Amino acid sequence: METKNQKNGNIVAETANNTFTPSDSYNTLLKGNRDWVQRQLDSDAEYFTKLAKGQSPEVLWIGCSDSRVPANEVTGTKPGEVFVHRNIANVCVHSDMNLLSVMDYAVNVLKVKHVIVAGHYGCGGVAAALTNKQFGLIDNWLRNIKDVYRLHSHELERITDHETKVNRLVELNVTEQVYNVCKTTIIQNAWKERSDLHVHGWVIDLKSGLVKDLKVSSSGSKSLGYVYEVEKAEAAH
Ligand SMILES: [Zn+2]
Repeated sequence: METKNQKNGNIVAETANNTFTPSDSYNTLLKGNRDWVQRQLDSDAEYFTKLAKGQSPEVLWIGCSDSRVPANEVTGTKPGEVFVHRNIANVCVHSDMNLLSVMDYAVNVLKVKHVIVAGHYGCGGVAAALTNKQFGLIDNWLRNIKDVYRLHSHELERITDHETKVNRLVELNVTEQVYNVCKTTIIQNAWKERSDLHVHGWVIDLKSGLVKDLKVSSSGSKSLGYVYEVEKAEAAH
């Protein structure tokens, strides 16, 4: 059975078999949480009562797992305003059940109006995909970005500066992932029902904090290419 005690100002979790003394960074999280709760309550005593009632975000954010690009901070939004999915290098794989489940819930239940694929310059995942080194299991994930490279190799192989090449691949990766999102039956079926769903591609510049809109937004399946378009689903017999 777990108990929690205060010891020298730190929280110590004790179990029957071991004693876990958290590091400073761990305790910083807990203190940060208590401070955040207090700040919220100071500005609005009903803040958490309202937050607990439910969510109605209008945005689905598909971003990179990188610790420097949190959706709410980057966009100046609050808890409750952005539904979030993140993975390494913001890749949208058409058979990723995690992503598809998030997208289906966001589009069909929450009825979000905007899906934003958000990459960032200097992305470590994209940079790793430009090498031939093995990093482990992640190599199989990064294969998806190598496919983006192959699609755009004529352009990328003309770029000699490494940082410029990484950053151009970041932009092309976001563009291709926007395209992948649009190809899903989730988005295409939603477009048959409503016209207020838009898919966008962004890149965050970590050196300035500013977002670059890649202007690849889409709100219909016309530009998908015939082979990817799906017809309206027929009712099951
Ligand atoms: Zn990244």
